[in-house]
Amino acid sequence: MGLTSQSSGSSVLQSEPKIIHNIPDKKVIALAGNPNVGKSTVFNSLTGLNQHTGNWPGKTVTSAQGQYKHKDRNFTLVDIPGTYSLMANSVEEEVARDFICFGNPDATVIVTDATCMERNLNLVLQTLEITANVVVCVNLLDEAKRKKININLNELSRQLGVPVIGTSARSGEGLNELMDAVHELTSKRKTYSPFRINYTYVIEQAITLVEPSVKELIGNTLNSRWVTLKLLEGDKALLRALHKYLKYDLTEKFTITKKLNEAYNILREANIDNDQFRDTIVSDIVGMAANIFSTTITFENQKYNQLDRKIDSILTSKTFGRPIMIGLLGIVFWLTITGANTPSEIIFNCLFWIEDRLSDFFMWAGTPSWVHGILVMGIYRTLAWVVSVMLPPMAIFFPLFTLLEDSGYLPRIAFNLDNYFKKAYAHGKQALTMCMGFGCNAAGIIGCRIIDSPRERLIATITNNFVPCNGRFPTLIAIITMFFAGIAAGPFQSLLSALLLTGIVILGVVLTLLISKMLSKTILKGLPSSFTLELPPYRKPQIGRVIVRSIFDRTLFVLGRAVLVAAPAGLVIWILANIHLGNLSLLSHTANFLNPFAHLIGLDGHILMAFILGFPANEIVVPIIIMSYMATGNILELDSLDQLRQLLVSHNWTWLTAVCVMLFLLMHWPCGTTCLTIRKETQSWKWTLVSFLLPTITGVVICFVVANTVRLLGFA
Ligand code: GDP
Repeated sequence: MGLTSQSSGSSVLQSEPKIIHNIPDKKVIALAGNPNVGKSTVFNSLTGLNQHTGNWPGKTVTSAQGQYKHKDRNFTLVDIPGTYSLMANSVEEEVARDFICFGNPDATVIVTDATCMERNLNLVLQTLEITANVVVCVNLLDEAKRKKININLNELSRQLGVPVIGTSARSGEGLNELMDAVHELTSKRKTYSPFRINYTYVIEQAITLVEPSVKELIGNTLNSRWVTLKLLEGDKALLRALHKYLKYDLTEKFTITKKLNEAYNILREANIDNDQFRDTIVSDIVGMAANIFSTTITFENQKYNQLDRKIDSILTSKTFGRPIMIGLLGIVFWLTITGANTPSEIIFNCLFWIEDRLSDFFMWAGTPSWVHGILVMGIYRTLAWVVSVMLPPMAIFFPLFTLLEDSGYLPRIAFNLDNYFKKAYAHGKQALTMCMGFGCNAAGIIGCRIIDSPRERLIATITNNFVPCNGRFPTLIAIITMFFAGIAAGPFQSLLSALLLTGIVILGVVLTLLISKMLSKTILKGLPSSFTLELPPYRKPQIGRVIVRSIFDRTLFVLGRAVLVAAPAGLVIWILANIHLGNLSLLSHTANFLNPFAHLIGLDGHILMAFILGFPANEIVVPIIIMSYMATGNILELDSLDQLRQLLVSHNWTWLTAVCVMLFLLMHWPCGTTCLTIRKETQSWKWTLVSFLLPTITGVVICFVVANTVRLLGFA
């Protein structure tokens, strides 16, 4: 989840784009909107790029930019974080507001959700206060039609005083008109007079008093009415940003402070303090939005979201919510494990048949044996392991998971877990960032920006690694398929495997909660802050698109990363296995060195070495284990998955070893990319170290306890 070729891997480290201004004839367009309104879909359709889309709020936390050309003109489209308002209550709101305000976009397109316009209009009105260069895009018109919601777009445009375009971005409907409107707006052929919010009388009085002095100073660089409002509100973050932008401090200008003081007196007399000022502004905006809403939108069917409510009353109910959640997870795993077996076997056979032919070719060509060793036995063979063991489970797991994500089920998971997170003194939104971690921990950690409190954000960051990511899921499934295949007979085998995997994931979630609580009680003391979690409407997923996206964005991306890292790792292993010191290869020396400690935690030296070498990407842990066993063991040819199991057994694997490997996979250091992301997000090596050590120590302790208890009891 939360994973795209852009939002994962090392590219997440370059999340802030540099906006290219001042290119003649190139217009910069900001794409704003509430979360989950189809902004990424509009962005992707216009730019042809591939931002992550998914039916849940809070996934776009960084800005992306792309280019498109319409008619004679080039445009740079900047996708700013989805926000409900521009009051700068959170990091995203601040980023969005600062871009609209100081980023100097030539136009701002506000994408709105036609099925909940009332809430969306708040953002539109707030944006219109800052700039008149706005085009409102009323998206999800198809959904609105389905729910029998009628929107009078012309009337809405008349009232707002800016162009309003209806779209169904998913099918591309209306996007051409949207581009036309943006083109026209940036050509400045027409002038618009946008809607003006009229505030409560005293506030208007205060504005009228201060605005002329502000206007005198800032001219037309910014909207003086809006700047005045923010000065009166005393919005510190904005004042800092203004200072940076204007290169002087407005509040230090005598004419302004004088007028401000007079205005404060008027407000004080009306019993309006700072908090009340803000509340009044908000309720005035909400009132105006409700007014526009009631005069432009009609419902043919008043019970339009009754079905969603009915579904939610089951999926988020106290009794059924959690069992259904665990059941769904189990079904996804079961389908993955059952479905992956045969394709794995087929790919395995194909790739190893090719290996034989490659070997024949090298023999025929008479190349030295070390060249054959490096290229075929080292690099090719490792790649063949990676592809055959990981491709099938990923090709099944990711589309299934993306389906759940697209339908809108993820926020329901967050809702079901919310209470637990509160009890752990952590933020309820952590359930969402944890879900993002299932996709990629680095992306999950960037996602933690949706949590405002620094304390709770740190907790979410440090514990994100306790859920297995894209790289670790297939590895877990591979171990289960390889090792537990055949232990239980028939259909029970995959059922058992699915239960095992579900258990591991639940353990990850339980540990996330326990460690969060522990952190809240020790080094990150504090109380949980409250928040409202939005449950988005259920949307019918587009099966075709889900499959294409999960194959290209996720499966091939993860596989590509695995292959990139596995090839050199295969080479290193081959070299270590073929350079001898005394009677033993370097590989055996290293494994022997690690063995005593590894044995204590239920592993062996080869496995521990694989985890260490797997630091760049967890995907390659299993291939490295196999490679290093192959290099030291007596089975030299593997031509079926069952022989893989024999290879493991011949290296003294028992069920306990498999369980400990899985536990350690769940709990060990974050991968290289994740560590760098933590460093970047926390700006601190100390917290990066804590995030590195905490899961590692937990893993070592748990594996130690499990391994030694089982051994003591004589079960393995
Ligand atoms: P963002 O959070 O605003 O970037 O929203 P996304 O682009 O990720 O879209 C949220 C969900 O709405 C996804 O499941 C999209 O496929 C879906 N979606 C976007 N536009 C439309 C539309 O016009 N019609 C329908 N039915 N669904 C849409």
